[in-house]
Amino acid sequence: MALVRRARKINRLLADLYPDAHCELDFANPLELIVAVILSAQCTDVRVNQVTPALFARYKTAEDYASADRIELEELIRPTGFYRNKATSILGLGRELCDRFCGEVPGRLEDLVTLPGVGRKTANVVLGNAFDVPGLTVDTHFGRLVRRFGWTELEDPVKVEHAIGELFPKSDWTMLSHRLIFHGRRICHSRRPACGACPLASLCPSHGIGELDPVKAEALLKPASAREAAAVAEVRKRQAAQKLRAAAQRRARVEVAQP
Ligand code: SF4
Repeated sequence: MALVRRARKINRLLADLYPDAHCELDFANPLELIVAVILSAQCTDVRVNQVTPALFARYKTAEDYASADRIELEELIRPTGFYRNKATSILGLGRELCDRFCGEVPGRLEDLVTLPGVGRKTANVVLGNAFDVPGLTVDTHFGRLVRRFGWTELEDPVKVEHAIGELFPKSDWTMLSHRLIFHGRRICHSRRPACGACPLASLCPSHGIGELDPVKAEALLKPASAREAAAVAEVRKRQAAQKLRAAAQRRARVEVAQP
């Protein structure tokens, strides 16, 4: 229970820090999202978002992908890296959607994971963001953060997904995934986590594994917008006020004990 309480407290704080947490891939329908997620393997969402406008303008339906010219498709997605493998997945995806799902992206995990290039992570992103079906997206940020928070020691993404699913109600799963990914991208970096500027410091058992000097840690932060930076500042202000209140209460208790 202590673990559940602590985990949910961190999730509430993450919600305050990232009120705009969302899937950072641009898409307008489930087909665009599933293609974008396939392209995001080993690639940043920013880069994928640079590529997809031309791609989505050229291919609008599963049939379009199924009948795409491989060379042309590869050229369009080349900047995302591993473009030959990704083209194979996308061509196969188009064919499978046409052959087995009437050209539509299915809304069930068990169907999604049978599609080329689609594992549980991709399936959960699609379910959570295109179908409003709660899903935990265990990517590299998610896995790293839940281990740093001490929520699990497991490494296998499927086991991690089940372990973290036990700590939260299903209705929290999709937003929790976004918030963890946001925090991993902006503050709790893989190599140099900005511990000295992290609003989760008092709740995080890994506080201290990264940069502790406040000025250097601050320089490591990567807020994506002024609104995000303002949310972080607001949480810090609140935490500073709480600390002052707690210190005043401690002083008052000492004075009462030693009249
Ligand atoms: S205190 Fe450090 S390890 Fe913990 S969440 Fe913050 S940046 Fe990550």
